[in-house]
Order: sequence, then structure tokens, then C-alpha cells
Amino acid sequence: MNHFFQFLFDTSQWPPRWRCGNWTDALGYTHIISDTLIFGAYFAIPCILVYLYFKIQGFKLEKVFGLFALFILCCGTGHLVEAIIFYYPVYRFAGAIKVLTAIVSWMTVFALIPYLKMLVHVPKMQLMNRELLAKLEKTNKELKESEDTLKDFAYHAAHDLKEPVRGMSSYAFILLDSDEYQLPEEVKEKLTKIVNLSARSQLMIDNMLKYSTGIHKATQVELCSVENILNELMQDIQERDKSVDIKILSKIPNMWINETLVKEVIKNLLENAVKYNDSEKKIIKVGYKNGGDKHIIYVNDNGQGIHEDDKKNIFNLFYRGKNAKKNNSTGLGLGIVKKYIEKSGGKAWVESQKSVGSTFYISLPKEQKPIVENDNPQKFDVQIQMS
Ligand code: ADP
Repeated sequence: MNHFFQFLFDTSQWPPRWRCGNWTDALGYTHIISDTLIFGAYFAIPCILVYLYFKIQGFKLEKVFGLFALFILCCGTGHLVEAIIFYYPVYRFAGAIKVLTAIVSWMTVFALIPYLKMLVHVPKMQLMNRELLAKLEKTNKELKESEDTLKDFAYHAAHDLKEPVRGMSSYAFILLDSDEYQLPEEVKEKLTKIVNLSARSQLMIDNMLKYSTGIHKATQVELCSVENILNELMQDIQERDKSVDIKILSKIPNMWINETLVKEVIKNLLENAVKYNDSEKKIIKVGYKNGGDKHIIYVNDNGQGIHEDDKKNIFNLFYRGKNAKKNNSTGLGLGIVKKYIEKSGGKAWVESQKSVGSTFYISLPKEQKPIVENDNPQKFDVQIQMS
């Protein structure tokens, strides 16, 4: 083996290239520097392929890429040897490199033939691609138009329903409150039902408006204190219900969020934690977890917990669980939570054990981008002023 390498790198039979012929410095160095630079570039290409292979998930290194990389490497080494020969005439080694380059280059040529067959179809595929893209764009435009129409419809339907429902409720309340009509107990009971049902309809309409337009109201993110949002909500809830004890378990960092949306989300979660809780002392814990590139906020309660059958559905619009409260349940609260959080690039999920309690989690990206949904915000600005 040793003998073989001695033979391969033996330079005794030839003079270095500098001394072979009449080289000027300029011409000699032009060869040496150019060959070395070409080697550098040829060496870099396989390195980039190897880097892509390890760095990009899903980047598949086909056999032909491997051969191509080897071919480039052989060519590069050939150039390097040409530069070396100016000082060390390793002509046998140079010959070996050339033989290797010849073999690898022909292997690459054969490996490329099936791809050539594919290349013939590329113009046809490009045409198909263009047609498909045009169709996709058209469908997208139509979808966006029908989505806008649907949103407009939902907004106007909800908005216009508000007035008559409020009117019905007011008239029923006036009748109930007045001594003028001497209403029998049975009628009073029915009127109370009308007032309660109207209140529920109003709650539903408000939530539908929030669902269909809330996002448009708030597209900006800013650095906000979630603790301030929480303190404000906690104070309000604890004042209304003295059996509620809300604790913030850990320090919550300031976040780049849309304050209006996040406030609405936390409000929904806190109100549910109170609503679906029959414990004498309703203990609600709010905490923070660092989720890598996400902030995670959770709301834990010692309430009724969620029935196994309900768990996968509670974030669906209009879904009410087995424990839903008859009079103040719309099935929209968690739908709003999911929509707002997902539009902000996060996720909402729940862990719960029946009769023990539930923990609702929301994650929000640490690097928030503005929530852009509506191409024509002016249109919505007008609608919001109407509400
Ligand atoms: P709503 O409270 O108006 O019914 P939501 O969308 O807020 O609507 O909630 C959907 C369902 O999820 C509820 O009907 C209830 O069954 C269940 N749920 C929500 N939050 C809790 C909670 N903290 N504990 C137990 N069940 C809950």
C-alpha cells in the first residue's frame, strides 16, 4: 500500500511545471491562482448541497445530486492538482484524478438521462401550473367575495335584530313594572320569561357581532401588560360575585398583543370559570408558561369540569355542553376565543376532569404580526360606528 502511494506521488521523473518551458510570472500565476479559485468554488458547491441536506427539513438528496457533487469535487481537485504541479509534478496522481473524474462524469451523464425525459414535459407542466393558478385565484376571489357577503349579512342581521329585541324586552318590562294594569300572577310569570328570553337573545346577538366583526375592530398589536388586563377583569368579576377568588400564580411578562382581543378572550375564560362552577368558594388560578416562541396563558378553575363527550366540541360555534346554563349560555364564547387566538397565530385548548375542574390554555406568538383580515377596513369602520 505504502509502495502504491509512493509510486502515485513520485515526482522524480518530471521537472516542476515552472521549469518546463518558458513561463513568465504573469502567465504562471494566472494559471495557479485561477486553478486554485476554481477549486475553491467547486469545493463550495458540494458543501452547500451537504449543508442543505442537513439543514432543510424534507430536502431530499437524490442519487443524481450525490453524483453531481462528486463530479464537481473531482473537477475541482483536478484544477488544484494542476496548480500544485507548478511546484510538485505529481503527474501520476493528476492522471488518477482525471480517470476518476471521467468515470464519475459519465456516471452523472447516465444518471441524468431519466431527468432529461422529465424535462421534455416541463413546458407542458408549466402551462398546466399557470392554468391551475389562474383557476385557484379565481376561486379564491369568489370565495373572498362570498365570505365578505356572508360577514356583511351576519353583521347586519345581528345589528338589525338588536333593536326589536331590545324593544320587546322594554315593553315586557314596562308591563311588569307598572301597577296600572293589575296583571294576574300567571301573566307576570310569562312576561318575566319574555324579559329573560330577550336578555338571552341580546347576549347572543352581542356575541354574534363580536364574532363577525371583532377582528376588524382591532388589527394592531402593541406592547401590553396582561397583568393590567387581568387586574381590571378580576376586580369586576370579584365585585359581582363575592364567592370568587381569582389568583395570578406567576409573573406574566408584557406581550405584543392586541389588547381588545386578548381582553375579550380572557374575559370569556374567566366568566366561564365562574359560570360553570358550583363550588362554595370558586377558586380560579391564572398562570403563565414559557412555550419557546409562544407565550402560554392558562386559566384553571375548581368547577364542574367538562364531560368527556363535550371536550372535542366546546370550541365549536353554538356548541353548548351538557352542563350549559339554560339562561345565559349561547355557545359562542369559546368560538370567539378560538377565532381570536387563531387569528393572532396562536392556539386554544383545554384539559379537564369532570367534578375536579378545567384548565383552558391559550398560546400567543411572541413575535406578533398585525392581524390582517379585511382588505377594506374603511367599510368596517363605518359599520362599527353604527353599532
Ligand atoms: P356558553 O358558555 O355560552 O355555553 P361557551 O362557548 O363559552 O358557551 O362554552 C361552550 C361550552 O363549554 C359550555 O356550554 C360548557 O358546557 C363548556 N365550558 C366552557 N367553559 C367551561 C368551564 N370553565 N368549565 C366547565 N365547562 C365549561
